Order: sequence, then C-alpha cells, then structure tokens
Amino acid sequence: MLGAMSPSRLRWGIYFAWHLQGQAKFTFRPWEHIARAQTHRVRRMAGYAYRTVPYYRETFDRLGLTPADFKSVEDLTRLPILERAQIQRDPEYFCSRERPTADLLELRSGGSTGAPRRVFHDLRGVFQNAAHGERERSIWTRFIGRRFGYRELIVAPPHNSTFKVQQFCRERGFYPSGVGIERRYLSLLDSPERVVAEINSFRPDVVHTYGSFLGILFHHLSHAGPETLLHRPKILTYTSDGLSDSVRRLIGQEYHVPIFSTYQAVEAFKIGFECECHRGIHLNADLYPLRIIGPSGQTLPPGESGEVVVSNLVNGGMVLLNYRLGDIATLLPEPCPCGRTLPLLSFPQGRSDDLIELPSGRVLHPQAIRAVFFDRMGVLEYQVVHEEGVRFRVSLLTAPTCDRAATRERVAERFEEYVGAGVVTEIRFVDSIDRTAGGKFRSIISQRARAAAGINETQTASG
Ligand SMILES: [Zn+2]
Repeated sequence: MLGAMSPSRLRWGIYFAWHLQGQAKFTFRPWEHIARAQTHRVRRMAGYAYRTVPYYRETFDRLGLTPADFKSVEDLTRLPILERAQIQRDPEYFCSRERPTADLLELRSGGSTGAPRRVFHDLRGVFQNAAHGERERSIWTRFIGRRFGYRELIVAPPHNSTFKVQQFCRERGFYPSGVGIERRYLSLLDSPERVVAEINSFRPDVVHTYGSFLGILFHHLSHAGPETLLHRPKILTYTSDGLSDSVRRLIGQEYHVPIFSTYQAVEAFKIGFECECHRGIHLNADLYPLRIIGPSGQTLPPGESGEVVVSNLVNGGMVLLNYRLGDIATLLPEPCPCGRTLPLLSFPQGRSDDLIELPSGRVLHPQAIRAVFFDRMGVLEYQVVHEEGVRFRVSLLTAPTCDRAATRERVAERFEEYVGAGVVTEIRFVDSIDRTAGGKFRSIISQRARAAAGINETQTASG
C-alpha cells in the first residue's frame, strides 16, 4: 500500500531503518569507539539543551557554563542533580521549544510512590529507541530461532507505556508488512489462570512482563501443577520490579526457560539489558550514561552501591541530564565474558525509597533484606513492611514444598542478626501479596514510602 502512505510515514520508516543498522554489532565494538559515540551525543545534547530548553538556558547562565564546557560525559556532573519532584512540578520547563507538541508522546508514571509525573518524548527519540532495541533483541532472537514474525505476550500495568510507545510508532511510521511481531497484551491485574490460558492458546515465543509478576505466575504454577502450562515460551523477558532469586532459579531448573531483564524507565527507555551470560545489565553508555552516587552526591567507583543518576542523550522532547532515578545499584568492575564492551551494572538492588531507617540511625539496605530470604528455596515472594521502630511485618508467598515452621524460625533469626536484639517480626504466610494501583509490586515498604504513598497493605492470610 505504498501509494496510500504519507511522505512523513515513509520518512520515519527510513529514519528507523537507518538507525537500526549495526546496532547488534555496536555492543561488541572497542570501548574507544563507543566512548566517541557517547562524547558526540553529550556535546550535541548540551548545545541543544542550552539553545532550546528553558531550564538549561537558565541553569547554564546561572552557573556560568556554555555548551563548549561539555566536552565529555564527566562534564555532565557540572549540572545540578535533577530531582523527580522538579519535573513533577513543572514538566514543560524541561521540554524543548523546538519540538512541536503534536510530535510529542506524553507518558505518565510513578503512581506507586508519590504524585504521578508526566514525561514527554519526541518522535525522533522514540524511533531511535525502537532501533536501539535491536541490541537486546538480537540476543533474544537467537533463543527464539527467528528474527521476525514471532509471537509476544506482554503482561503489563493497565495504561502501560510500552503499549503507548508501540502504538505511537505504528501510527506514525512505516514498517514493511510481514516483518512485524505479533503482540497481545494482558494486564498485570489479570489472574495467573487467565495468563496461563492465554499462553496455552496464543502460544507466544516471548512472554514479557514485570519481575514480580513472574513470581505470581510461578507461584500459581507450583500449586496448579507445572503440567497446566501446555506451552513453554522460548524466553521470558522482564523489566522493573525485581525478580526474586528463588523464582529465577525455579524457572531455570524446572522449566528450562531462559530469562532476560531490561533496565528501563519512563524517563530513559533503554538504559541497559541482560546478555546470555546473565551477570548483570549491559549499559547503553553512549545513549544513557549513568553514574552511581553516594549520600552527598559524590560519584562512587565501581564496586560500591549507591543511587543511579542517568542522562538521557536520546530524547529531544524533554531533556533530562544528571537525573536521579531513585534506583540503587552497583557498577561491576569486571568485564563480561560475552565480549560486549558496554559496561556492566548489577541488577538493580531496590529503590532509595526502600532504605529502612532504624531507630539507632543505621540504615538497612534492600540487599540485606534480600539476603534474609536468599537461601530460602521455598520462598517465592516476600514483602517486608517496616511498621515502626524495630517492628516488621513479613508476608511470605511460598511453594507447596516449603517447611513453614523452619522458614519462620530462620527468617526471625536473620532479622535479629541484621536489625539487632529486640526486633519484632510478625511473619505470615499469604496466598497473595497486594499490588499497587498499577499492579506493580513492592518487596519492601519503608515508613518513608508508606507516608508518601499511603500503600494499602491488607493481605489474605492463610496461616
Ligand atoms: Zn555480557
């Protein structure tokens, strides 16, 4: 139907195809090559931001900076750390005056912690992102067995941004027929029975969802019987909230389905992806350079855990440089055996909202909480609610094989070890753990997060 196609759809189709070239191989290029691409983007974005975005024009002028001061990625740290609350208050302040509003994709996010925020992406950025997706897709398609024409089931929050982004691309861009991926969508709020039924009838090659939903799904299967899953997808991919170590092992050992995570945010679409070595997340450092900071904002060296600060060098709609994402992670010092030169980040270790402040002034890291449950093979999901002082409520979703009495005892022991004598842990075995309004899941609910969000924590106890 070339005759009926508008010139602009064709133009975006060509733009997409142009950016698609060489993406998979790019991840293996020598680091100097990737660093050059990064520097090029830093310089271009600094100039563009100063020229067209009110916030940067004012901030550069106030700090006595000019675009020429941004010679490499390190120079981005000259800018103040941008906080989520700033873009919540006045998103337009960070938008380029050069992009027509009609060409912007508006996404909303963040209902689980505090006020939702609006983020705008421009058409160029969205199409570039679609092309950059080839970096991870080229890994997945080796397991799928073909590059195009496969089936993908997406289980995502209602009003999900993945769907909106794909729809936006389809409406405005041209994709040759026959190369498309057949996609179906379900909601995270759908029951696991419904999702299993859809997997059995649609027979997807890929199931893409949230980490915590895989927990729910495999908890359901461990009770309903693995044989109720008539069709095994070739791979599982997930994003956002964490996948517990025990579910990851369960899926690998009992179902033999490879799992790949991606690291993405509404503010930065393709921060990184997991490769076939499963060591962590390869960072798209040329597109979304990222650093880890400590409590006073100082950059931390590889190996030290801190907060993720990212710069988006792709999106010209809303420009976010030196932006605090709120995730906790560590840059890994070792290169990956896969041969890709993109740096490695640990799997995100929780959010800064998950830090639990104890009355003693000590802070309990989400990784410490995770360690409590690490070797409990029977615990599929956990949720720890910090009630007050040294009181914790722990809800556990377990496999049928779990020895509940032994688990209860060992969890209580670990809490005493990490928090100190006098800790009170109320441990309950539950049939389900409540989601936030968007269907997401939080394994740790600190007092700070409770105060910010008024999270509903009622659960169905089963003993
Ligand atoms: Zn790798």
